[in-house]
This record gives sequence, structure tokens and C-alpha cells, in this order.
Amino acid sequence: MSSEPRVRPIVVRPGARYQCFGDGLCCTDIHILGPLSKREAKRVAQVDPSGLTYDDDGDEEQPVLRVATDGGCHFLLPDRRCGIHASHGPMQKPDFCRRFPVGLVATPQGGRVTTEHRCPCRTLGDRPLLDEDNVMSSIVDRQGRPKAERRVKRVALTKKTKVSFDEWRAVEADLLGRLASGEDARNVLGVRPFPELKKSDWATELDAIAAECLDGSSFGFAALWFVEHGRRRLDREHRLRLPVRPWAAAFDRALARDGEPRTDVDVFSDWIADEIWSLKWTDDRTFDVVCVELATRLSIARAVARTLRADHACRPDRAAAEAIMVVELVGESTYWSDIVAKIRV
Ligand code: SF4
Repeated sequence: MSSEPRVRPIVVRPGARYQCFGDGLCCTDIHILGPLSKREAKRVAQVDPSGLTYDDDGDEEQPVLRVATDGGCHFLLPDRRCGIHASHGPMQKPDFCRRFPVGLVATPQGGRVTTEHRCPCRTLGDRPLLDEDNVMSSIVDRQGRPKAERRVKRVALTKKTKVSFDEWRAVEADLLGRLASGEDARNVLGVRPFPELKKSDWATELDAIAAECLDGSSFGFAALWFVEHGRRRLDREHRLRLPVRPWAAAFDRALARDGEPRTDVDVFSDWIADEIWSLKWTDDRTFDVVCVELATRLSIARAVARTLRADHACRPDRAAAEAIMVVELVGESTYWSDIVAKIRV
């Protein structure tokens, strides 16, 4: 078998389930709706130029989709369908809209299909198993060819140990097998959360997230849920001060669909399995760091889920799914990458 990364054959993680039911979370200010490439911005402007705005948060202004006052995308229709998709078809939408929550990573094994879990259509209710047929329209480019977000050839287990992809697959198969068999994800990761940080500490870092993220957006509220439960994990006496949950209606809709309840252990294990399987962490971290950062976010997610069950009477699988949304959102942010860069292993 060639050791070069490739996108064929398409490889799906056994047991991964997803179908878009339009639960309506991803088209909101739960995350930045962008940035758009020049071509994507041009396509959006062809539909309605007032749907574009510019994110002035970074060094350079980047075009993004405009968010309406209710927190939804400018193009979101009242029935939660995408206005661009409805009037011009899926290829007119920005790529991240067409792909989310699905992704593709080129490996020597083939093109691995990945899924994000901050989407109730991924985590709750009856969902079909993923296969090549039902993901293809999300992972191809405008010419119909599978397009990978990253290429992975070798994997760094630690700073000093890099292994071939076949060697990595043996390590990974053991972890995924244990998660699939129902073993608690905390045991499978096998490390303690909240590791030591270089020249910093967790309280300082959580305070910094809270100071930077509170902007009235759904993301800001989710970040505060994360920070408050992180503080509670560090100090059992910490009194939680929690904002509203603008995302709750999307989870209500997911729960209203048919589907057997899942155990919270299963929901958490499925998420950890996809975090490992996605290989997105190979961009900037080694696997020993991944284990401790995942253990930390899992610990916070479990605390969030406990609050949702106790104070909001949420069903265990819904509480776990909502908690994962919170910790995945923060985990995808530069705030979290900056903290992870300080982890001492
Ligand atoms: S353009 Fe369409 S798919 Fe993308 S965020 Fe807006 S409504 Fe959702």
C-alpha cells in the first residue's frame, strides 16, 4: 500500500451516524459564519450583497456572512432552510456551509470522513450510518472531486516519537475498540485533566476566555458555560453564574425527532472517538497533548451535563450532546489552541 496520503477510497468510521434534519444550530452566531474566500464572497454577493459583512477581529478584514438581530444567518429562511440553497442550489453556498459538520482528511489509508459533534443532527435522534453515498455531496469540490482539508502521512505520538500511519492505526484501533465496547472515555484516555501549564495556570486562562468572549453572541454564552464549569472543576465551592442557552431550541427539535435515547457514556465516547479519528490535532499537537486536552474538555463537558440534568431536567443523552457542543466550540477556537500550546506533558 502506498504511504502517500490520498482521498480514495472513502473511509467512514464504523458506527458514525449523521443526517441533516435542519435542526437549525449551525446557521447561527454559535460560530463565525466565515471567513469566505474571494470566490465564495462573490457567489454570495450574486445572491444578495447585503448578506456579506466583514470580520474586523483579526489583523486583516475577512468577508463573513451577516448575522441577523436574532443571531441567525442573513440567508436563513423562517422554516430554517438556507435561502441560498433554496434559490440557487447547494454549490452556490460557501464551502463551510455545504460541508459542515462533515470533513475529509487524506491519509495513506484513503480519505477519512470526519464529523463535528456540535450539531444535534450528528448527536441525537434516529440518524443513518454514514457511508460514501450520503457524504459525497458534502466532501466534493465544485468539480465533483473529493477535497481534503488536510493530509496526514505520519503521526507524532510525543515530541520525540513519530510513527508511520500503519503504526498509528494500531494505536488508534485499540482506543476506538475500547470506546465502541462501552468503556468509559475517561479510562480510555487514561490521563488526568487540567495538566500543568507553562508560565500560567488554569484559573488565569479561564478568566482570559471569559474576558475575551463575552460579546452577546451565542458563542460568547457557550464560552461562559465552559468557563464557569471549568472554574467549578477547579474549585468545588465555586458558585455557577450561567447565562441563557440560545441554542436550546435546536436540541429540543432534535429530541422531538424519533430515536431511541442514548446513554450519556455512548454520546461522550462517540465524540472522543471522532476527535481522535479526525486527525485535525496533527496540525499543531502531539497525541500525548491531545489526551490531556481531551480529558480536560471531557471533564468540563461532564460538569456541564450534570448541571443540565439537575437544573434543566435534560435527558442524559441531550445533556451530554449539549455539553459536547459547548466544549467543542471552545476547543475549535484560538483561545483553546493558545492554552493547549502551554500544556506541559
Ligand atoms: S448561507 Fe445558508 S447554509 Fe450557510 S449559514 Fe447561511 S443559511 Fe446556513
